[in-house]
Amino acid sequence: MKDSLVAQFAAAFGRAPEFVARAPGRIEFIGNHTDYNGGPVLGAAIDRGVWVALARRDDGLRIFASDQRPGAVTLPAATPPGRQTGAASWVNYPLGVLAALPVFGVPVPAGFDYFAASDLPAGAGLSSSAAIELASALAFVAATGAAADREVLVQAARHAENHFVGVPCGILDQGVSGFGRRDHLVFIDCRGPRFETVPLPAGVQFRIFNTHTKHALVDGLYAARHRECVAAAAALGVAQLVDATAAQVAQAALPAIEARRARHVVDEIARVGATVTALRAGDLGAVGRLLAASHESSRALFENSTAELDFLVSALTASPHVYGARLTGGGFGGAVMALTTAEFGAAEAEAVAAAYAARFGTRPDLLQTRTGDGAERIL
Ligand code: ADP
Ligand code: MG
Repeated sequence: MKDSLVAQFAAAFGRAPEFVARAPGRIEFIGNHTDYNGGPVLGAAIDRGVWVALARRDDGLRIFASDQRPGAVTLPAATPPGRQTGAASWVNYPLGVLAALPVFGVPVPAGFDYFAASDLPAGAGLSSSAAIELASALAFVAATGAAADREVLVQAARHAENHFVGVPCGILDQGVSGFGRRDHLVFIDCRGPRFETVPLPAGVQFRIFNTHTKHALVDGLYAARHRECVAAAAALGVAQLVDATAAQVAQAALPAIEARRARHVVDEIARVGATVTALRAGDLGAVGRLLAASHESSRALFENSTAELDFLVSALTASPHVYGARLTGGGFGGAVMALTTAEFGAAEAEAVAAAYAARFGTRPDLLQTRTGDGAERIL
């Protein structure tokens, strides 16, 4: 990937890059809607990501190009532009990082040539947005020679997505892309935030089945879930649901919907902790049961699953080569993740996809992946 990026950079700009960085995509492993309730989440950085190559210019121009978009976008460094629209809107990710880094006291380069290349499908729920942000941040920091902590880059990348791009994501995406490690999961205590890696036993793989379904009202449904969680916390007399116990939720006289949402969140927070314990014990069977319980809770209590996601989870968990499967991400459509043994092969994945197609009339996209390292400078 690095060689082809350098070649693409040379074709676009007629010279070699001075700096190269890459950052991975991520999977939400377990911890569904726990982040904005102050709870923990476990994610996996994957072995696919976004690479950014950079070379400084002394004429004050910033020229952005990508393997996914034709042409280039040229902008002046002296008068930083606002949010771009239309064909140039992908540039909002590096532009947002350029706007965010100084907020955290980190200087950014003036003029440069910039090229992004990727082997991570964009818009597939694997957070190519966090990957392009982190890879950009590392390349910019390399170009100024400034020192910046990994945690600062993670926070700046999230700031870029929240405030410049305008997506209200939690810390999972950037935290996992920044702190990922091969053969490990990333544990994030969202209150700190605090980041930690947890070893993943050898020989496992991930399969992602992206349904490309999306509930028409998904933004409103997220907002409603958020409101219900806040209302449940207030009724329980705690600041956030992370501060409530399962016994408190069981005994409180909450409205039925709020009681279900609170139970999901409180149980899910406990499942994240139990998953860390099971991983440290090397007990993948227990991890798989926790993944299944997480999905069942999404289906029955948080009500953010769909018939499509439930179908995939049932089909996958029926396989002896699958430890567990669950919806990954916000829900209301999107993707299912399965943790599998190495024996779960292409034929078995195809059979699940074919059964899905027979039932729903469309094919899910299949992706096989394993864990990979977090954001790093390569040149
Ligand atoms: P996800 O993060 O799940 O992949 P998003 O909609 O949050 O989906 O981010 C996808 C966007 O990130 C793309 O539409 C594009 O603007 C930008 N992006 C990701 N990878 C690249 C790339 N290699 N080149 C240009 N833009 C990219
Ligand atoms: Mg994204």
